[in-house]
Amino acid sequence: MKTATFVAIIALSTTAAFAQGVGYTDTPQIRGQKWKVHDKARPNPPEVIPGATFSHGAPAPSDATILFDGKDFSAWQKDGGGAVPWKIVNGYMEVVGKSGGIHTKQEFGDAQLHIEFATPIEVKGDSQGRGNSGVFFHRFFEIQVLDSHNNKTYADGQAGALYGQWPPLVNAIKSPGQWNSYDIVFEAPKFDDAGKLTKPAYATVILNGVVLHNRKELNGPTNHRATDPYKAYSGKGPISLQDHGNPTRFRNVWIRSLGGYN
Ligand code: MG
Repeated sequence: MKTATFVAIIALSTTAAFAQGVGYTDTPQIRGQKWKVHDKARPNPPEVIPGATFSHGAPAPSDATILFDGKDFSAWQKDGGGAVPWKIVNGYMEVVGKSGGIHTKQEFGDAQLHIEFATPIEVKGDSQGRGNSGVFFHRFFEIQVLDSHNNKTYADGQAGALYGQWPPLVNAIKSPGQWNSYDIVFEAPKFDDAGKLTKPAYATVILNGVVLHNRKELNGPTNHRATDPYKAYSGKGPISLQDHGNPTRFRNVWIRSLGGYN
């Protein structure tokens, strides 16, 4: 029958597409790399089982700015302005899907950020649709938050990726519902008076005690299916957390300024 044949072809082509990997073939080349943005042929990094408790629940150093201690959203506002529309439960915040992202009221330059996150215990969706959120520096640069536990997606979009540019060195994510810790050192880009880039941004990212990026250079703002050039700005900006529609949780967020623009 025609319908049955049609269904069989769809099933076959879906299986074939999955077997070839998840991602894109029609995106631009990443500057300075041989891969395209979200390249489906780019290998995913190996898995590493992290140690159990590295920096989980880490008390803030005395010179840190507390961004979230489990009690209130006083350091945060909704993107576009207004009160934070997310939930606080038992000392953590939880994304309320489709309510909008949030960012800190205060801006920072070069900084060390500590933040803990848990992807949803109820596993729903796949690839970029599973436990997606993100930690943004200065609105431009996303360190991906994703449930990358048994979840195939393009390499430069999995947990810990400098989104659309660099996959993490390894996949050190914990199981859904378990807490992970990010310790991130971010160096802001610098521009001269004419707006020309004089120093790119760098990110060092440690997930659960495992180094994912060792002072990795960002080639511009991170983006979906695109590779954008740097645009001059002050070198200061907020920390943002993404609402990608999934109830991802965050707790124990603090930051230390590292001089430079501060
Ligand atoms: Mg994201």
